[in-house]
Amino acid sequence: MPGYPAMFAAPLLQGDGKEARNLLVYIHVPFCKSRCNYCAFHSQVFNQVTFAWYMKTLLAEIELWGKRLRNPKIGTVYFGGGTPSMIPPFQLELIMDALRRHFRFTKGMEITVETNPDTVTDLTYFQTLLSMGINRLSIGFQSLDDQDLRTLGRPHNGRQAVEAYQLARQAGFANISIDMIWGLPRQKLKSWMTQLKAVVKLKPEHLSCYGLSIEQGTPFERMQRDVDMELPQESEQARMFIYGAEYLESMGYIQYEISNFARMGFISRHNQGYWDGLDYLGMGPSAVSTIGNRRFTNPEFMDAYDAAVRGGFIGEDYEELGQEIRAQELVMLSLRTAKGLKLSQYREMTGRDLLKEKRGVVNALHKNGLIKISAGYLRLTKNGMLVSNSILQSLAFD
Ligand code: SF4
Repeated sequence: MPGYPAMFAAPLLQGDGKEARNLLVYIHVPFCKSRCNYCAFHSQVFNQVTFAWYMKTLLAEIELWGKRLRNPKIGTVYFGGGTPSMIPPFQLELIMDALRRHFRFTKGMEITVETNPDTVTDLTYFQTLLSMGINRLSIGFQSLDDQDLRTLGRPHNGRQAVEAYQLARQAGFANISIDMIWGLPRQKLKSWMTQLKAVVKLKPEHLSCYGLSIEQGTPFERMQRDVDMELPQESEQARMFIYGAEYLESMGYIQYEISNFARMGFISRHNQGYWDGLDYLGMGPSAVSTIGNRRFTNPEFMDAYDAAVRGGFIGEDYEELGQEIRAQELVMLSLRTAKGLKLSQYREMTGRDLLKEKRGVVNALHKNGLIKISAGYLRLTKNGMLVSNSILQSLAFD
């Protein structure tokens, strides 16, 4: 890609390296109404003063990157958080305008906003988003059971979640994803399946179903230390994952990644881009970027983030990703997807044959029905997806 300044001289060419792919843009919105008990994402309770500061800095960062990368073409924009739907529409419009001024939008590009049901209660909100060109929503239901939602510390109930979804549809959104969590305290297979069925009745185009994981520094971590949280047994969790995935597939949702299901034509192009190893630019506090072989993380706290943007040194403290790290990431990311790892891509990248290099591990995984190899791809089976972390580690690292 001509015209990149020396620091970002590497071309925006990733994936299989054969075609130029457009940059993915992620905007981190670090504000929430309250903090959920399981959450380890970087966000804080909303306050006007910090939000105004954030807006000013974010707009400056967008301009800075647009100039530095010389108005690159972008393929997707994803507003994540945090709770992006806490941004008032007219402020969101300012961000969209800045993006349009400093980056080149591609035709029909996917623009997603993560929303939480407690923050979106009127039709005009969704209509305004659509009028700005935002064409995909990801709504955080997590559960439809009010007791589960209280346990998770979510600031909404099941009814509000359904109402938010219906308003978005009424406004005209034709691409909606719903986030759900399974493996909650005291949850049984039956209640998980009941919820999943209720969600499928709404006919979303996309579903993300994550298994609950207890993250460091969260209230759930402390609770797990101090009391019995009555998390479902491993065998029960395995059934939730397997039966849930089979049910969704029977209802026309393709499991295109371990936790993600979509109707034909509705995979998340932004997330698929991450798994394909495309370049991405993250803006906002704590956002991560990978451009060429360079990876960098924005400062987490507002004062440091603001200083880095105003001083123009944001992104200058980067990690150089060597070929070995790139190859490990290719294995780790592509094996999460249904498409799997293209073995020739690994060979081109490293000069090595993964099947020979890991012969012992590959044979054992294959014998136990955890992987399959066909048409030049290595993929995880459903059972393999259940224990994906250990398989990915054993294939990606020595
Ligand atoms: S709304 Fe989302 S980002 Fe905010 S605290 Fe809850 S889980 Fe975390």
